[in-house]
Amino acid sequence: MTEYPRVDERFRMVERQIAARGIHNPRILSVLRQVPRHVFIPQPYDQSAYDDNPLPIGNGQTISQPYIVALMTDLLDPQPEDRILEIGAGSGYQAAILASLAARVITIERIPAVADLARSNLEMLGIGNATVIVGDGTLGHPADSPYNGIIITAATPEIPKPLLDQLDDGGQLVAPVGDREIQELVRIEKTGGRFVEKRYGSVRFVPLIGAYGWEEGNA
Ligand code: SAM
Repeated sequence: MTEYPRVDERFRMVERQIAARGIHNPRILSVLRQVPRHVFIPQPYDQSAYDDNPLPIGNGQTISQPYIVALMTDLLDPQPEDRILEIGAGSGYQAAILASLAARVITIERIPAVADLARSNLEMLGIGNATVIVGDGTLGHPADSPYNGIIITAATPEIPKPLLDQLDDGGQLVAPVGDREIQELVRIEKTGGRFVEKRYGSVRFVPLIGAYGWEEGNA
């Protein structure tokens, strides 16, 4: 397996920001130590790639804080044979983490230039089991459904119904749900056609813009 530069910074990030905050799944910690977060962040912010915060990736969008990526991954709990749908590819970091844990990842991004960035980052790292699609992720991607896990990495007023429909029975959906300023991290499990919801504290994401999200420019 390729060892990417800045490995000491990644080990420190995992120890101080992630394991210290209670995430102990060894598969997830191992992938976070391997995937080079700095590749997903444009200059000059790549210098701060292993700091404890989100960073700009261009087009007014952000790469999520490492701890939030770890927490959402832990809540989703992807298994090696799983098919996962992500809404909001950004520059592709969360997709790279998921692709290292699951069989297949489909990630949808609404801004074409951001989708291109994600695609080239994933290609550069030789990640072949993640596909980046341009579109409105609130509609999901029925062609490859049902999914064992769905993760929304933008703030949504409610869980888009098409995504609930595309979640397999026994599957998990993780999303920040709330208003445009502040949200709660929500995990929904689909069991026997029912949805069981748990909440995991406050988070702050850029808005999910689309048919089942927010209207563009309506801050
Ligand atoms: N997952 C990313 C990562 O690994 O760092 C972070 C995603 S960023 C916080 C949110 C992304 O969601 C932005 O790139 C934004 O353009 C995208 N987005 C917003 N609404 C969307 C929609 N309806 N469909 C797909 N992508 C959307």
